[in-house]
Amino acid sequence: MSVRNIQIKGGCVEGGITIRPIGVIHSCFSEKFGIPRQSGMVQSATAYLELYPPFNREEMIRGLVGFSHIWVHFLFHQAVAEGWKATVRPPWLGGKRRVGVFASRSPHRPNHMGISAVKLIEIRKEKKKYILCLGGIDFLDQTPVLDIKPYLPYSDSIDAAAGGYTSNYRVEREVHFSRGAAQFCGGYERETGRKIRLLISDMIMQDPRPASQKEAKKKFGMLLWDVNITWQVTALRFEVLECRRVG
Ligand code: SAM
Repeated sequence: MSVRNIQIKGGCVEGGITIRPIGVIHSCFSEKFGIPRQSGMVQSATAYLELYPPFNREEMIRGLVGFSHIWVHFLFHQAVAEGWKATVRPPWLGGKRRVGVFASRSPHRPNHMGISAVKLIEIRKEKKKYILCLGGIDFLDQTPVLDIKPYLPYSDSIDAAAGGYTSNYRVEREVHFSRGAAQFCGGYERETGRKIRLLISDMIMQDPRPASQKEAKKKFGMLLWDVNITWQVTALRFEVLECRRVG
């Protein structure tokens, strides 16, 4: 789904307003399964933010260099067709207890708006386009971007913040690669320059299994760029069984 303009009606703005995406995300995640549940959880998960004209002017990003992180406001475009829910079951609660959607970061919210604090690795100019290289992302490929703002450590970082029902989140297992998977990753990295082994480890380490599918030895598939990864969980560790190129 390509998103151009979003009309917002009602409220106190006479005639409503039109929100239009200022850019689009190009990320390694072409499907939802396995995407980190929050930004910053997988530092090796990277993306490019391409700014659309007329927002791809140097003056609009002047001063952004020097900020290590930015806030990205975006549309959960692939959740729009699924509608919204008043209550959701966050993975942190084992998928069993429900909380209100406004007490969650679920994509299934009334306006399908997302917000992520991500690392600003670099700003590049390519063929008259400005590209922001981002790290620690949690976006699906082709996510429409509605706004970006600098992350301000002096006010956005709150040392005393309480994490509510997410406070006890912890994963304690190591990731092991089969010999074939390790060999594949080495070859793929040499050919493409993409650090796929680190990305797979970081992704699996945060245990992306849905709460309803936590039984041991069940095999899971995950697509990163053009590589399909098969992995499973044992009592002791995460095991990457096979990596295979698709397409
Ligand atoms: N950090 C953001 C926030 O708090 O608003 C996103 C958190 S949300 C829990 C992250 C999940 O949203 C990802 O794991 C992925 O499954 C899903 N997601 C990411 N981009 C999406 C998109 N464009 N459309 C639908 N779902 C998306």
